[in-house]
Amino acid sequence: MIYLDYAATTPVDQRVLDAMMPYFRESFGNPSSVHRFGQKAEAAVDEAREKAAFVLGCRADEVIFTSCGSESDNLALRGASLVKRNETGANWILTSRVEHHAVSKTAGQLEKYFDFQVKWLDVDEHGMVTPQVIEKAIREQTALVSVMYANNEIGTINPIREIAGICRKNKILFHTDAVQAAAYLPVNVDSLGVDLMSLGAHKFYGPKGVGALYVRKGTPLVSHLTGGGQEFGLRAGTQNVPYIVGFAEALWLANEEREARIAHVRPLRDKVIGTVLESIPDSRLTGHIEARLPNHASFVFKDVDGNLLLQLLDSAGFACSSGSACKTGNPEPSEVVTSLGLSRDWALGSLRVTLGVNTTPAEIDSFLQVLPSLVQKVRDLNRR
Ligand SMILES: *Cc1c(COP(=O)(O)O)cnc(C)c1O
Repeated sequence: MIYLDYAATTPVDQRVLDAMMPYFRESFGNPSSVHRFGQKAEAAVDEAREKAAFVLGCRADEVIFTSCGSESDNLALRGASLVKRNETGANWILTSRVEHHAVSKTAGQLEKYFDFQVKWLDVDEHGMVTPQVIEKAIREQTALVSVMYANNEIGTINPIREIAGICRKNKILFHTDAVQAAAYLPVNVDSLGVDLMSLGAHKFYGPKGVGALYVRKGTPLVSHLTGGGQEFGLRAGTQNVPYIVGFAEALWLANEEREARIAHVRPLRDKVIGTVLESIPDSRLTGHIEARLPNHASFVFKDVDGNLLLQLLDSAGFACSSGSACKTGNPEPSEVVTSLGLSRDWALGSLRVTLGVNTTPAEIDSFLQVLPSLVQKVRDLNRR
């Protein structure tokens, strides 16, 4: 079985696992305890926070550990917009039509149950949120803008620095979901200019079930998980020490090895894109051709049932995806793909191929050998 779904999740790096192991049994203390067991666990969390802060270029007390990327998005959106409205009365949330559900469903809930108004920002044909769209949409009553750094389904990288600059000029809070981006793109919060940024470890060879939210000093935020005073009072609950250690190690390695990892996946990814578009009739790349994640290839094929194609690929030994892992099994085209302006006969046939550290040229060759005939097979089956 060949794994080509690194945007859904990645295996834990052995070095990350090694760093985590002592904190399950030997140093199992509660970081909030006064005794030495507690001190040891607290030191591990502190060190992980320093390490993450170094990569992000921020202060350690601006890093809040959470249970996943989704939780970080929830905390950012709900936590910031509630306080902001309390302070200023602003009740608009601006976000794009191509966000991960962790952002879009949270925005939707704030609208339905908390009296916010969500303004959904259109994207261009590459799925990009342009600075012009932001410039036009913001108003005084905007509490928060949230635009993802890189898209998980179509790989497009947004001009975050420009968007953040516009928000800052207008004194509006800006959050970015960098969960997919952090594996390959620089995450220095000052060069990006963000106020809030979500991360999740399992997209960059860390464990599932741990994330972080960067919160710029002075950003208004209320805890959405109340209880003990952990994480500077912004996220109650005994810290998951081994996972937090794993998060920091994985982020550190992603930063250290960024160039090498890009150099490994990019040529293979380019081969996938070139060969697919050349050898499969009625195929199109989705997302931006240049401003895209270096490990990410995504396509639509006209008159192809994307789910059936995935099943045939699985039978042939290849694990790919049609888009977000959360949407598998849904017969409707994804909102991300339809927001590109594609008609239904194209949008239903989406395929996402994402590569990683373990991907080999031989794997890509064998994938490219079978894909055209499988697409043809799905088309033949549909015609009958
Ligand atoms: C995976 C992902 C998430 C969710 O992260 P989890 O850690 O799985 O909750 C959010 N946003 C984007 C862009 C993602 O790719």
